[in-house]
Amino acid sequence: MRVAVFSAKAYDKRFLSEANEAFGYTFKFFEPHLDESTVRLASGYDAVCAFVHDDLSRPTLQALAEAGVKLVALRCAGYNNVDLAAAQEYNLTIVRVPAYSPHAVAEHAIALILGLNRRIYRAYNRVREGNFSLEGLMGFDLHGCTAGVVGTGKIGVLVAKILKNGFGCEVVAYDPYPSKACQDLGIAYASLPELLSQADIVSLHCPLSPETHHVINEASIQQMKPGAMLINTSRGALVDTRAAIEGLKSGQIGAMGLDVYEEEGDLFFEDLSTQVIQDDQFTRLLTFPNVLITGHQAFFTENAVRNIAETTLANIREFESGGPCANQVHAPQRRGA
Ligand code: NAD
Repeated sequence: MRVAVFSAKAYDKRFLSEANEAFGYTFKFFEPHLDESTVRLASGYDAVCAFVHDDLSRPTLQALAEAGVKLVALRCAGYNNVDLAAAQEYNLTIVRVPAYSPHAVAEHAIALILGLNRRIYRAYNRVREGNFSLEGLMGFDLHGCTAGVVGTGKIGVLVAKILKNGFGCEVVAYDPYPSKACQDLGIAYASLPELLSQADIVSLHCPLSPETHHVINEASIQQMKPGAMLINTSRGALVDTRAAIEGLKSGQIGAMGLDVYEEEGDLFFEDLSTQVIQDDQFTRLLTFPNVLITGHQAFFTENAVRNIAETTLANIREFESGGPCANQVHAPQRRGA
């Protein structure tokens, strides 16, 4: 199998090449994103390996099929960037990595909560400047506060567990498909408005789908407990950024931690430190003292990246052997992680 790897970073090269030692496929690494303008690079390859910001809409998929590509191996869990109906039409098999380390993402969500609550990012800068004032650094005990977990799949249940068993939070959950693992932890489910009205911390762990697009919007922000903390490590478009900015300005949102952002495709994973960022909403977010943003790094642990590479290779092998591919994504079905 000849595989064209798009959006390839040094760590992708390293971990995919290491995993490939057991398989011996031919990999070609391309730094650009896969989209209509770069799809011709895939010509002559049997498979493409793509990531979260690659554009797998109908025109790209059509061009891939015309170029002779048969397999799209996503090295991520989410597939909201793939037109599954078009993929089926063009006879392209889509496989993904459904789980690589839910711990990585759950632990990062907790890092955002702790970092924001105790203003670690501000304290770090202050101390380096010899400013030992505590003004503005006051947090609250996580113990005894109420945390709302929206989406209790692989990641959400871990977040709920850490918050409940690790910190002694009251945890309330919302998920249209309640999980036994969560219920076994003694965590109660509630409707989303109930959760929002009770939670001091709201953490989002549901997939992005038409139903969850802007699930945090002007109306739902008004349902939140005034001053609550909002955490999003899931997908940017779960949060209506414009509404969140208004919520931060009014104090309705007390703090916000994001690992994902609606328009992150133009920003994240690249070094733009010498450029003028054109996204005014994003730069507005950066002005808030109570907003902590990381650039889609929640998944980024050595364990997770190694698992992604190994599962991607196993997915390719299954396809090459004629399937069935356990991690194939079919159209139409509920969208996943
Ligand atoms: P999962 O499929 O195991 O769980 C998702 C849960 O969301 C399921 O229990 C599902 O029933 C629930 N859900 C579906 N629709 C919902 C709705 N309308 N409201 C509330 N809950 C709903 O997925 P996971 O592995 O736990 O991943 C969760 C999300 O984390 C993914 O969708 C992905 O977007 C995100 N993610 C982010 C990173 C990162 O690096 N930031 C890495 C991996 C995954």
